Amino acid sequence: MADICVSSHHGSLDELLADDEFRELARRDGFLVELRLDQYAGLSLEAFRYAVQTLTPTRLVVTFRAPVEGGKNLHAEDAQRISYLSAAARLGVAYVDIELSTLYVNKLLFNPLVAARGKQSAPKFIFSYHDFVGMPTHEALGDLRRMAEKLGADVVKLAVYANGIEHSRPLLLLLCEETGWTKPLIGIAMGEAGFWSRVLGPTFPCAAPFGFARSPRSNGTAPGQPTWSELDDLYRFRKLKPGAPVYGVMGNPIAHSRSPAMHNAALQALDLPGVYLPFKVEGAAVPFVREMAPRLGVRGLSVTIPHKEAVLETCVESTPLVKQIGAANTMVVSATRLTEDEGLGTQSLHTDWFAANTDAQAAAWSLEAAIGGPGCLNGKSVLIVGAGGAARAVAFGVKALGAEVLLYNRTVERAEKLAYAVGGRCVSREELRASHFRPVAVVNTTPVGMAPKIEDSPLEKEELPEGSLIFDTVYNPLRTKLLRLAEERGLKTLNGLAMFVGQGAAQFELFTGKPAPRQVMEEAAQKALSDF
Ligand code: NAP
Repeated sequence: MADICVSSHHGSLDELLADDEFRELARRDGFLVELRLDQYAGLSLEAFRYAVQTLTPTRLVVTFRAPVEGGKNLHAEDAQRISYLSAAARLGVAYVDIELSTLYVNKLLFNPLVAARGKQSAPKFIFSYHDFVGMPTHEALGDLRRMAEKLGADVVKLAVYANGIEHSRPLLLLLCEETGWTKPLIGIAMGEAGFWSRVLGPTFPCAAPFGFARSPRSNGTAPGQPTWSELDDLYRFRKLKPGAPVYGVMGNPIAHSRSPAMHNAALQALDLPGVYLPFKVEGAAVPFVREMAPRLGVRGLSVTIPHKEAVLETCVESTPLVKQIGAANTMVVSATRLTEDEGLGTQSLHTDWFAANTDAQAAAWSLEAAIGGPGCLNGKSVLIVGAGGAARAVAFGVKALGAEVLLYNRTVERAEKLAYAVGGRCVSREELRASHFRPVAVVNTTPVGMAPKIEDSPLEKEELPEGSLIFDTVYNPLRTKLLRLAEERGLKTLNGLAMFVGQGAAQFELFTGKPAPRQVMEEAAQKALSDF
């Protein structure tokens, strides 16, 4: 089982020792605390020894990072840093982290330490490499790993920077290698796009013995670090094992997605293995789906803006609804096989994907339930505001329940196209203002009213038809300006939560084959959405 190592953000050892959170973490099973000696003002060997003995030595990772690899003490000489790391080893800490570059230049100075290996209290040596601006090639990363193993590392750590998710591919290739390596590898792609590497360390063949996290009160020691409670409670990091199933949401932007909170709560409630992650895919979706997702162990993906249409070319099968809508919000692995790489004499993992759209049913069913239950939309008209991806899903969803689809959109041609595809009709702004215009429901599918522009509404108060239910698919915030205007007019309202939970629950069932714990998912989504 992997541990969680929480990096100290303190300005001095006194500050660290006065911090209840860290003192408690250094005693807790499954947790480690990283002392970053390069960060501390007024550091002395005496103060350091006192700190190690006051905390639990066997729960400490000690690092005195070199300035060239991100160390904060620009005046620290190698000899001084090595004397602290030697003291740490003698004090019996759990891990001592030494940069490969330091080790390479000062090999002789480390000999007594490395020779002490095997003694009961000897620490494990992490030989590390850091690049805060770029991603070395797969070959270069392999060379660094080989050098670290050859020099006697107990654990190899490679922390490099990924500008985009496809940029993190060389590290992923290395992490997936099953043969030729003997030591655990902590491979970190820093930055938001490399978030996967912060969570999935224990799932790769040479599983990471621990992952790095920050305190919720700090920004962390490297870009993209999660908090220790996110890693522990949300992603269940300490329970992840090699080969664990991975699920996730791919989109851009993705940092504020509430899907990880909802899906991880469901996996946890049913005690299912695996984890659900946010994947920030900025460029084209296809390379990520084809080349990275199978290696990451992904079995199912939620797909969001802007990839819902582009992913279709990666899927060998899809539901009839996906074909009608022309977009998918769900992808599930239907088969995997090894294929020969033409002329290379190597094999690649090939994955077949199945595409579904759970937005349509979730929207239509939540609307039907809010209005009067099964059959209540049959023969009634529903006005959809917007003509983008969500509008297409709602349109085909309510159409399947027998409703007449009316469309109003800022760009009329787009509404006309959708009206033609779904067999509905467009209405003008004048028509929807008329007193005789009485659809059973009005559904906003535009992002108007979404945070941060929460005082915007796609329709004026006077434009809301008498007797209609007003459904806003926007869920951040849950109580939008449109819904507030509807309440002021005494109209029934429905917020975007039911649709969000409904589409997520249907995805969960496709991913896992188990009935979704809807209540748990709703509570988790509601809690996550209340942060907006
Ligand atoms: P999309 O494909 O980009 O479509 C956006 C639509 O909104 C287009 O019709 C666009 O009109 C219109 N629009 C955008 N800005 C506007 C403005 N300022 N004034 C008037 N109309 C405007 O986006 P989408 O995938 O359909 O998603 C739209 C929203 O649906 C999301 O922001 C999300 O809040 C919501 N949604 C909710 C759920 C849920 O589970 N509750 C699921 C999916 C989506 P033009 O054609 O004129 O550009």
